Amino acid sequence: MLSPNVETFLGCDASFDEARIVLYGAPFDSTTSFRPGTRFASHIMRGESYGLETYSPYQDLDMEDTRIFDSGDLELCFGDAEQALRDIELRAREILAANKLPFMIGGEHLVSLGAIRAAADKYPDLHILHFDAHTDLRDEYLGTKLTHAGVMRRAWDLVGDEHIWQLGIRSGLREEFQWAREHTRLHKFDLKAMPDAMAALKGKPVYFTIDLDVMDPSVFPGTGTPEYGGVSFKELMEAAILGCSLNIVGCDVVELAPGLDQSGASTAAALKILREMLLKLEEPFIRGPQMV
Ligand code: MN
Ligand code: MN
Repeated sequence: MLSPNVETFLGCDASFDEARIVLYGAPFDSTTSFRPGTRFASHIMRGESYGLETYSPYQDLDMEDTRIFDSGDLELCFGDAEQALRDIELRAREILAANKLPFMIGGEHLVSLGAIRAAADKYPDLHILHFDAHTDLRDEYLGTKLTHAGVMRRAWDLVGDEHIWQLGIRSGLREEFQWAREHTRLHKFDLKAMPDAMAALKGKPVYFTIDLDVMDPSVFPGTGTPEYGGVSFKELMEAAILGCSLNIVGCDVVELAPGLDQSGASTAAALKILREMLLKLEEPFIRGPQMV
């Protein structure tokens, strides 16, 4: 019998009921301060995912053995960030209410706030692990509180002091770095603080957000605000896999703007990070808890 052409991310073809992870795209880039284009990321990534193998030789795990549901892309209001955030929050709430893990593909970084609101409501002691080139701690940007340059400041409103670990940061206002000293655990330039972060976050409910511009633009130019001096692909992949062994209750990768890298290499990098994260999150279910 012929089937309809319904495209999912590679290997993410479980039903909602049987899935443990639910993917969703948040194609929104209205508060992007420099070059827009992240609204196309989830759609392009879905199509390009077939260029990847389902098998990961890094982890000896295969996407064929996962149970992941791809719930598609949200239809978000471009003119109203708060409305878009409400729609994202609703999707994340629905997934969390079914005791599944919401995994979002951005979009610009502001989209994380919608998912973090949902996770913080379910998990009062929510912690955040944040990889980024940028502080994202602006209280206001061009007169608005809701902006991708301030997403972690708005997340702090929800989770409070010492609950946000920021790694890879190499750009921001002096005031943001000063503010971070008292309110977040900010580690500059690289991901070497991961062992400390892992120890501190062990057992806590963690929302893991990766702004892909944490990578150096020489390997990841397809992003709106490229910032040189970033980490290598391998450094990010290893840290992302490690982070996914925490008690992750929500997750996202954001800020791929596929049109800004016509070679497709940035999209390929984002997809490989996504595959490795999904596999690590699924590992306990694939191998069984005694094997991990
Ligand atoms: Mn960011
Ligand atoms: Mn950034």
